[in-house]
Amino acid sequence: MTVIHNLGFPRIGVQRELKRAVEAYWAGKQSREALEQAGRELRARHWRQQADAGLKFVPVGDFAWYDQILEWTTLLGAIPARFGQTAGAPVDLDTLFRLGRGRAPTGTPAAACEMTKWFDTNYHYIVPELSPNQQFRIAREYLFEQVEEARAQGYAVKPVIPGPLTWLWLGKGDAFLNGAQDEGKLKLLEALLPVYRLVLERLAGQGVEWVQIDEPILTLDLPQAWKEAFGQVYAEFQTAPVKILLATYFDGLKDNLATASGLPVAGLHVDLSRAPEQLALVAADLRPDQVLSAGWISGRNIWRTDLEAAVAALTPIKAALGDRLWLAPSCSLLHVPVDLEQETELDNELKSWLSFARQKLAELNLLARKLDGIDDDATRADWTAQQNALAVRRASARIHNPAVAQRLAESRNVSRDRAAFAARISSQQAALDLPAFPTTTIGSFPQTQEIRTLRRDWKSGALTDAQYEHAIREEIERVIRFQEEIDLDVLVHGEPERNDMVEYFGELLAGFAFTRNGWVQSYGSRCVKPPIIFGDVARPAPMTVGWSSYAQSLTARPVKGMLTGPVTILQWSFVRDDQPRETTCRQLALALRDEVNDLEAAGIKVIQIDEPAIREGLPLRKADWKHYLGWAVDCFRLSTSGVQDDTQIHTHMCYSEFNDIIDSIAAMDADVITIETSRSNMELLEAFEDFHYPNDIGPGVYDIHSPNVPEVQWMVDLMNKAAARLPRERLWVNPDCGLKTRAWPETRAALVAMVQAAKDLRAAA
Ligand code: GLN
Ligand code: ZN
Repeated sequence: MTVIHNLGFPRIGVQRELKRAVEAYWAGKQSREALEQAGRELRARHWRQQADAGLKFVPVGDFAWYDQILEWTTLLGAIPARFGQTAGAPVDLDTLFRLGRGRAPTGTPAAACEMTKWFDTNYHYIVPELSPNQQFRIAREYLFEQVEEARAQGYAVKPVIPGPLTWLWLGKGDAFLNGAQDEGKLKLLEALLPVYRLVLERLAGQGVEWVQIDEPILTLDLPQAWKEAFGQVYAEFQTAPVKILLATYFDGLKDNLATASGLPVAGLHVDLSRAPEQLALVAADLRPDQVLSAGWISGRNIWRTDLEAAVAALTPIKAALGDRLWLAPSCSLLHVPVDLEQETELDNELKSWLSFARQKLAELNLLARKLDGIDDDATRADWTAQQNALAVRRASARIHNPAVAQRLAESRNVSRDRAAFAARISSQQAALDLPAFPTTTIGSFPQTQEIRTLRRDWKSGALTDAQYEHAIREEIERVIRFQEEIDLDVLVHGEPERNDMVEYFGELLAGFAFTRNGWVQSYGSRCVKPPIIFGDVARPAPMTVGWSSYAQSLTARPVKGMLTGPVTILQWSFVRDDQPRETTCRQLALALRDEVNDLEAAGIKVIQIDEPAIREGLPLRKADWKHYLGWAVDCFRLSTSGVQDDTQIHTHMCYSEFNDIIDSIAAMDADVITIETSRSNMELLEAFEDFHYPNDIGPGVYDIHSPNVPEVQWMVDLMNKAAARLPRERLWVNPDCGLKTRAWPETRAALVAMVQAAKDLRAAA
């Protein structure tokens, strides 16, 4: 029987049990022992579910209290000095939590380690902090303990660990300022590899046969030195007493194929969901003693797999490789929700098109049976169900909206161009009459408990529509009066109606579905519940016009309409796989274009379209950037180009690297862009300066992620730094990002200071 296995299972638990357990522990409401017990229960449940699905081994090492990279960093004893780790002593769980979030029930609080996005996913890992003389040792026992735990429950185990090169690539440190690629980090291999060897030897001593070593950086553009390091590292592991399955995922191996297939490892896992074209190439390069693990079933999306296509592609490979062909999902299932069976409110048809982690394992099992030629009643029934669901989905009238298709075809001829910026900005100035250094905010105001309760009560039916609308209007009025009182120039309505910047729009657009329990870990104990875009996207009715025009009716000052951009909605959803992503994005862009135009018609003179996710949508390989940025920018322009010259379009982005995409940001041609820059002391504006960025820009003058209230003079100084790089008349004054996570007292104090800073700047001019 074809071996099936799994690269990793979601650890959060179907009811987010892990989140509850760690948060209770952090809050001092649960003991360490109770926390450990919750972890054991989750692992036992997940192993049982995987073994029941027919997996040959259960993965061990994919469980993490906070993040799997952080687990590994602490196992290696790589603890930054500020956490006060005693040399040679085991690293305590609370130390792990302090690295992840700065504090824990015991130990002195310290600045948490940086967190950043895991490849092109919405998962965030804790960045290893490295120093040139970094020492390593086995400083935690969890991996070996969990191997024992699983074996005691009767399972064959396959430990899963981050590869040394991927772990180093992800790391950073003062001495390694050239980013991921910094070759200086490779010098640490000398100290690191003996510890890896020791880990492999100890695992072998526990009876482990296979170890999965994850090296997803093999799907990236790698500098030569890193490619060569692969040969060195894996030659050292050749004599280790275990078989190594080298796992790659998130893209094809491409120019790293020769590197990967030349390594002396016992098996190679490749992502055939993202890069099916590499199957024949990888299979051809396989040595006669090697296993190929085919990751056909997507670990990144939630659609049922077209197993017929899988059987067609894999049958010749199976014939050639026999038992040396293994099957797995494309990557760890960390990136999908746990169990579709929990979704009692999705209609059965839509539900039959979907597959979450547990369902994916069942698909894997069915694929193996088909490849093995099994033709019993159960297999026939499963196959028929699978095929029927796919056929129904393909033919469904719910996913195709002829009006949307027609609109999309016609949109090719819609101009994405507005008048030249110089002409636009002068008509906007005439219409808006703003002072120099105009002040504004990014959109949201504090989301208090009362606001959350309002929305919950409305959703549960405890509040009528009219009661809810009345209460939200009261909140909008409060926010408007507050902004007038502190003398902001361009106001916002505060976004009290929004649970989340994507979900709010998804709920009002056709083509979206929502789950009740479709949680996916984002970072630490934080989970997100991405909407599912299953069909053509259309806007049955205006989405924000009511709130925005009410807000505008309260004041003579301009109120910004506030929308989430097409790329960000796409990026933070599970997207249909039956058409290119760019097609779905254009549908979103057209829906937003209607909203933008309706806002303008309702008298809204300033409209902001947030695109914080444009950068994170970048493909892993540079060669693919141009295509992606081309359609991403086109979608933004499609959304915004329907307005008159004197309507001002803003956008907002909250990430810190602009250098390599500045031309695309400029090509979006927003009249005003507000960005996060305060933490970098305005150095991030260098990219805009070098590019001679032509339009208006609001470099965030204070960090909203902290409750600290910024000093007036400090903000004045920052703006003067900005003015040294960019024309003064192009500059706006605003915070870094939205204020929804802040409390009112600090929000008021910070904004009062910010407005004063703008006034000081004007007076000095
Ligand atoms: N308008 C949104 C807000 O203020 C922007 C959020 C974001 O940048 N992620 O909350
Ligand atoms: Zn932001």
